[in-house]
Amino acid sequence: MEMRTILVVEDEREIARMVQAYLLREGYRVEVAFDGEAGWLKFRELKPDLVILDIMLPGMNGLELAQRIRRESTVPIIMLTARAEEADRVAGLEMGADDYVVKPFSLRELAARVRAVLRRAEGALPAEVIHAGPFTLDLAAHEAKLGEKVLDLTPTEFELLAFLARYPNRVFTRRELISALRDRTYATIPRTVDSHIKNLRRKIEPDPDNPVYILTVHGVGYKFNPAGGG
Ligand code: CA
Repeated sequence: MEMRTILVVEDEREIARMVQAYLLREGYRVEVAFDGEAGWLKFRELKPDLVILDIMLPGMNGLELAQRIRRESTVPIIMLTARAEEADRVAGLEMGADDYVVKPFSLRELAARVRAVLRRAEGALPAEVIHAGPFTLDLAAHEAKLGEKVLDLTPTEFELLAFLARYPNRVFTRRELISALRDRTYATIPRTVDSHIKNLRRKIEPDPDNPVYILTVHGVGYKFNPAGGG
């Protein structure tokens, strides 16, 4: 397998170096940047397979950098946060982070998160057919099935469902969902996403008022749960 490149953006040099050394031993190529601006430049230059981002950075902070990266890439991001505070965690996920690790963390724990996030991302590469729980989405034919039943979806609903199903259990903000749609003219405001989700739920949920597949994550957005109620 090709060697994966990880970019670590962390101003505390000792931590950055420790993370780098550990992940190098795990077989990754690891590059380090000590502030947000340098991190951004390295991101553009390296096109890494994963980014580890400290939230508290001088200049452009980790959240801003995550947001900037998200505008042009779906690269997995793990945030490092000094506090276990809900607000930081939600902010990180809101900016598009895939996971977060609270300081102080063990290097072994971080490496485990890195492996898990990479595995998820690689399993999530665009496929012609997406299988997620009872759903089968044929991207080429634009056909969605729930079990054996063909779903009658609009193109926007199909794209939304395909996007969510491609990244099971990952939380997306309304803005991220909008940016995932090919034709954005139909859904340029967050509220439009809500109505598409509502329509989708009517078509796929056993009980649209108590959804089990497309779950609302309060204060953040939505996620797809392929396990449904079972
Ligand atoms: Ca820091």
